[in-house]
Amino acid sequence: MARHYDVIVVGLGAMGSAALYQASRSGANILGIDRYQPPHTLGSSHGDTRITRAAIGEGECYVPLVQRSGEIWRELESASGSTLFHRSGGLIIAPPSSNATFHGEGDFVEASARVATRHGIAHEIIDAEEIKRRHPLLKPREIDRAYYEPGAGVLRPERCISTQLEQARQAGATIQTGEKATGYQASAEGVTVTTERGAYYADKLILSAGAWMGDLAPEAYRAGLRVCRQVIYWFEADDIGLFDPEVFPWVIWIGDTLEDFWSSFPAPRDGLSGVKLVTEQYHTTTRPDEVSREVTAEERDDMYYRLTRPRIDGLRDKLIRAEVCMYTVTPDEHFVIDFHPESERVIIASPCSGHGFKHSAAVGETLAQLALDGETEFDISSFGLARLISPH
Ligand SMILES: Cc1cc2nc3c(=O)[nH]c(=O)nc-3n(C[C@H](O)[C@H](O)[C@H](O)COP(=O)(O)OP(=O)(O)OC[C@H]3O[C@@H](n4cnc5c(N)ncnc54)[C@H](O)[C@@H]3O)c2cc1C
Repeated sequence: MARHYDVIVVGLGAMGSAALYQASRSGANILGIDRYQPPHTLGSSHGDTRITRAAIGEGECYVPLVQRSGEIWRELESASGSTLFHRSGGLIIAPPSSNATFHGEGDFVEASARVATRHGIAHEIIDAEEIKRRHPLLKPREIDRAYYEPGAGVLRPERCISTQLEQARQAGATIQTGEKATGYQASAEGVTVTTERGAYYADKLILSAGAWMGDLAPEAYRAGLRVCRQVIYWFEADDIGLFDPEVFPWVIWIGDTLEDFWSSFPAPRDGLSGVKLVTEQYHTTTRPDEVSREVTAEERDDMYYRLTRPRIDGLRDKLIRAEVCMYTVTPDEHFVIDFHPESERVIIASPCSGHGFKHSAAVGETLAQLALDGETEFDISSFGLARLISPH
């Protein structure tokens, strides 16, 4: 007779590992299933570092999530002895009249400053001269200005995931990896999850399958979850010490058009070698099992010659490593966290659109609350599924 669980979590990446950890702390009977071996490099949560900031220009509803996530990362650091966060400060550099929107917001410098002011988050707006004075490797244009947040930094995504999985395991959760969920059926009595190996039963199911949510979300909502391929590059530095988080902030570079977005990252001493750079694109959609993981010479040259070299000194024309990662993007670039339209036993979680990681610890808490209590203390009213269906 198969065991009955209180909650099953399908997908144990950033969101699922956090949900598993939070649900397991309640003493409930929890099962986590992943098709691969998380943390892995095939989804949306790899690449050594993720930006985090407190003033969330994407919207004020995210501020409680990022604040609570910061508390959880600190709890996890003390419980595990592992460093999950490096404070580096962060700069969002943009011209005052950019035509480009970033994560759905027009003037992201202004939007971030507004949220920071309302929530008492330390920040400054500085001009191009001041950016160069503080960070001589950076070469903003004369017209650029920046939002600077001194308390911002980078998270270590693989460690966050493995730490939460380990803590969940210690709290009694069962974790099955290398097992793909193929379907689920909810009824008045419970939920049945089928996998390549068999069937499992539970009171509640959390679906947090990242870029593969299109395989599991209700049919009518799938088109609202576009998967966009992104590339992460690591270039060799003249002196890697100059990119240490203690002296080098992350930078979100917002140029004049959608083609000009990219970010540069500080390089933690115990991280992957080289300096990480990431582009963002939203125009080409892919399927997660068909995504091209090959990074072309054209892509590499565009990153180095067009975007990076005019803006950062100290990086050599030598690519050390490149990886492909995926954004799951909704039409308004906000999260999805909601009950399945046909059954409150199933919770759908697609909190990505390229900005999910910094919130993932608290998203896990939200998901665990929804599954165990049927409600959450966090305001998720902007994250409903219904908005994924566009009016015809
Ligand atoms: C290049 C890049 C840079 C980013 N930078 C930032 C940043 O700086 N700051 C920030 O806050 N956010 C950032 N993000 C966004 C953030 O990383 C994502 O929002 C977040 O990691 C998504 O987590 P997830 O749990 O939804 O997906 P994932 O972590 O990919 O987890 C999904 C899991 O589901 C599993 N799965 C899928 N289908 C099945 C199935 N059928 N059965 C069982 N298991 C299944 C997969 O194996 C996977 O482990 C970035 C994303 C990318 C790609």
